[in-house]
Formats: sequence, C-alpha cells, structure tokens
Amino acid sequence: IQWYPGHMAKANREIKEKLKLIDVVIEVVDARLPLSSKNPEINQYTWNKQHILLLNKADLADPDVSQDWIDWFKKNTDIQEIMLYDAFDRRHKTELVKQIQRLNVKNKAQLKCMICGIPNVGKSTVINSLIGKKKTQVGNKPGVTKGQQWLSTPDKLMLLDTPGILWPKFEDPLVGLHLAWLGSIKDTIYEKENIAADLLKYLVAYYPDELEVLYKITLDDKNLPEVFDAIAKSRGLLLRAGEYDYTRTSVLLLNDFKNGRIGRITLERP
Ligand code: GDP
Repeated sequence: IQWYPGHMAKANREIKEKLKLIDVVIEVVDARLPLSSKNPEINQYTWNKQHILLLNKADLADPDVSQDWIDWFKKNTDIQEIMLYDAFDRRHKTELVKQIQRLNVKNKAQLKCMICGIPNVGKSTVINSLIGKKKTQVGNKPGVTKGQQWLSTPDKLMLLDTPGILWPKFEDPLVGLHLAWLGSIKDTIYEKENIAADLLKYLVAYYPDELEVLYKITLDDKNLPEVFDAIAKSRGLLLRAGEYDYTRTSVLLLNDFKNGRIGRITLERP
C-alpha cells in the first residue's frame, strides 16, 4: 500500500465522518510491534469514545514481552480496555464481546462499533470473527457515508462492515523497517535483502535459540553475513556452487517470521 498526503487526508476525513456514529472504537495493532503498528493520532478521534485496544496476533508474539506491553499501555494511555488477542481464537472473541458490553455505560440497545488500524494487522479477520457465520446485512442508515453497511452481530452489536484504515507513521525510518517486517508496507526485491538482514540482526540478539532450532545451525560467534550463509547452506539455497542465493534466503527468513515459524517473537520492547 502506498500512502500519499492526499490518501492520508481522505482517510482522515472518512474516519472522522464515520466516528460521529460510533460508540466503541476497537483499535487493532500487531502484538509483535505494538507501537510501530499504532497510529498515535487516533487518540484525537477517540477521546470522547469508548476505546478498546487489541494487541492482535498475540499467538505469534513473545508472551513475556506481551505482558510488559499490556502494563505499559495501561500506565501510559487512557484506553479503557487493552487485550492480548488472537483473532482466530473463539474464547478471545467471547471475551472481547464481554468487554464491549461492559463499556455500554448508557445502556444502549445496540452499541455501534468500528474496527480501526493500519494495513495487515488483522482488522478484517477481527470483523469476520465478530460477525460469525450469520452475515446479516442491515443496510444503510441515514447519515452514514454512502456505501457504508452496518452488520448486526449475533451478540447484538452493530458493526461497520468496512474497517477504518489508518496510515502508519513514516517519519521514523526504524518504524518503516518494522512495518516492512510485518508486511504492512510493500518492499521491492532489492530492499528485501536489507530488510531481512536487519531482522536477522534482531533475531540473533534476542532469539538465538529459535534460529538455531529452526534452521539447524549453530551461531557460535558468527558475524551476520556468516549467519546468513549458514541459513542458506542449511536450506540448500545456492545460486551456483559456492555462491549462496541471498534473495531467496531473505524471502525465506521474512516469510518464516511472518508465519510464526521462527517462534513467538516480539520485535519491540516497552
Ligand atoms: P487487515 O489488512 O488489517 O484487514 O488484515 P487481515 O485481516 O487481512 O489479516 C492479515 C493477515 O494476518 C492474514 O493473513 C490473517 O490470516 C492474519 N491474521 C489476522 N489475525 C491474526 C491472528 O490473531 N493471529 C495470526 N496468527 N494471524 C492473524
């Protein structure tokens, strides 16, 4: 996804417009990078709303660090509810519905909810889990931006069928790198090698055992290029005799990370 000032302004306007109708904002971030995948400007829109933060993909994140993040968000933000979340776990969904209903302080018959977040954090998956099988279409309500649909969930919530897409922050190059690790911004083949090298540096520092087990390598006191070689060698990723294929090794590493094969990893600490 490419973002330009025009897109950002449009997304900004759309979210503001939609939020007029919303009781509960459910913000989704990636538990492996909770700050880099969070748009801080969302607080401008949610100060007068009930606000729930889901640290989604918690099943892929380091459980100890996740608990540190929960504590950090509780201490440093006004967000009403902060939850570790796995969008594919039905028990988590049940817990989320309970928390939403707990925030129904005005005892409304139906709470109107909207899911927000940057690309690829799992918004659509969360929406689908809340809707379940029963995809009832309620249709347009007056005052709603044309094309908006409300879905009523089996738990008597009203849910906007399209998520509020927030733009990530790009100013910080480190955040840009983090978002490339998550697949929230596109990379080119050339950049993939640099992105993978930076990821590998982090993994060697924080999760060496996981790397050794998955790729059947020993890290000893190898430098970074040597670790790259060892992974390529272990997987037989050769261009020709004696020359490793760095592009394929980079793609392998990035995909193994995205799919949780390396283990439960958090790339950012409070
Ligand atoms: P969106 O762009 O924010 O709507 O993200 P999607 O809902 O399309 O999800 C992006 C990817 O993350 C998909 O491959 C989902 O299957 C995956 N995903 C979403 N939530 C979770 C989760 O809680 N755990 C895991 N392991 N994968 C998830």
